[in-house]
Amino acid sequence: MLFREFAELCDRLETISSRLAMIDVLSGVFPSLSEEELPVFVRFMRGKIFPDWSSEKLGFGPGLLYEALAYVIGKKRQVVISAINSSGDTGRVVEDLLEKREQTMFFSEDLELLEVHARFLQMAKTSGRKSQQERMRSAQYLLSNASPLEGRYLSRLMLEEMRIGIGEGVVREAVAKGFAVPVEIVEHAHQALNDLGEVALLAKTDPAALAKVHITPFRPVKMMLAQAGSIAGMVEAHGFLAAENKYDGSRFQFHKAGGRTAIYSRRLEEMTASLPDVVALLSAATDHDVIIDGEVIAMQNGKPMPFQTVLRRIRRKHGVTDAADAIHMQPRVFDILVCDGETLIDRPFSERRKILERVMKDFVAPQMVSDSPEEIESYYHAALDDGNEGIMLKVLDSPYLPGNRGKLWIKIKPEVDTIDLVVTGAEWGEGKRAKMFGSFLLACQDENGDLLELSRVATGIDDAMLAELYELFKDKIIAEHGKTVVFEPDVVFEVGYAELQKSTTYAAGYALRFPRFVRLRDDKDPSEVETIDSLFRRYNMQNKAGINEPGR
Ligand code: AMP
Repeated sequence: MLFREFAELCDRLETISSRLAMIDVLSGVFPSLSEEELPVFVRFMRGKIFPDWSSEKLGFGPGLLYEALAYVIGKKRQVVISAINSSGDTGRVVEDLLEKREQTMFFSEDLELLEVHARFLQMAKTSGRKSQQERMRSAQYLLSNASPLEGRYLSRLMLEEMRIGIGEGVVREAVAKGFAVPVEIVEHAHQALNDLGEVALLAKTDPAALAKVHITPFRPVKMMLAQAGSIAGMVEAHGFLAAENKYDGSRFQFHKAGGRTAIYSRRLEEMTASLPDVVALLSAATDHDVIIDGEVIAMQNGKPMPFQTVLRRIRRKHGVTDAADAIHMQPRVFDILVCDGETLIDRPFSERRKILERVMKDFVAPQMVSDSPEEIESYYHAALDDGNEGIMLKVLDSPYLPGNRGKLWIKIKPEVDTIDLVVTGAEWGEGKRAKMFGSFLLACQDENGDLLELSRVATGIDDAMLAELYELFKDKIIAEHGKTVVFEPDVVFEVGYAELQKSTTYAAGYALRFPRFVRLRDDKDPSEVETIDSLFRRYNMQNKAGINEPGR
């Protein structure tokens, strides 16, 4: 497939809003692609270069893209930056500038989809002193051989954001339709493989194998998530339940197989190098090959440390040994996904728990099974007294559903009005904070994952945190207009507030009254931020007489 054909297809999909029509288009294309092209095409559609389980990064930020483009069109970098500042849509600006380019190439080559992919892989692989230069050269090569439309999608791929509205669900259904396999089987294979590209390839080459896929060690799967709920509601729905402490730490997935070990964060980034002590503890606690789900907490002098400490420690790339001396990281494990090569996610939780207790000599999170709301209530209060966030209630016969935030795991914690939002921009500070960001623009998401701005936050950030945030955000700037900067939406803040108000200022239709920064949630992915539906529910709960409130 030519990259031009891929770009034309993306352009067409961008104008389609019906889900069914998108599925129709994709399912028509999939079978015509070769075995090499299909997985690449599927990942590209979703703005991905690597499988979802991979920690690999392209290592190509907006800054390098602007520079490569400036070179290709024979203009100053500032010309590119001003054009992006006045538009905000990098892909369209690249397209526009390529259209107007003065230095037409003497000859340009047709780019193949696989060739673009190979270049990206090469860009990701380069390391060492000259790596930026090499990445730049590859980007220049690609952009100078690209038509304006190809440039739109090349640049979006480089920034890993396609903006064509193709969600995972659409791809799964298109794979099912294109290769005539049941969508449930496609979904199941996707949960275990965590790479839609590979799932599509299997559907093409060996559909019968889809139902039998196993989770592969060192390819992390998405973590199962929880919803908020009530003890009484859960007991009424399920009777006997498992209750566990809800630890205030950081989620991990530990893999051990064939003498090798690794640990991954909730965002599936490999953390083995920053948590060697936790890896050693877990590895010594079992003689089996396993994939284990758990939470790591930080202890100092026998007491649990605040969550932020754990994240700082994880973020710190250097000085691991020093930090390990001061803070003791303690794993708590509560689920097992694979044991000695057997994938366990379809087994009931109660069975998985027995296997977990059998194979782990230590660190298994204590659990209570009960059908008494009073008993669970007192377990909850004891958990809070011990410094936990609350408890988790888990349905005993539930499978492990990777990536699912359903009603099988329910979190019970005190009502605190905090909300997770993604940071989309900022304003430069004033006075002694002029070289840092002063206030941050925050957004929630709608049902399609599109971001809707909701509020700004400036309160609650001390000088040390401001400096840390500057370091974190400085490479994520996409555009700048006067005092305002636009960021790649990549970082999640937990924000406290006094009240939710209706607003005509912000796209979400709501604003936070007295927003206050609580903490950085770098364990959370932007896809996990508050949805507009749950904001609406919060709003109605807050105005108890919400019955009078007209719907959105
Ligand atoms: P939340 O981040 O508020 O959506 O709550 C879900 C998170 O609680 C999970 O992602 C885990 O990081 C954490 N957690 C703490 N203790 C447990 C537990 N016993 N079982 C499952 N998740 C837990």
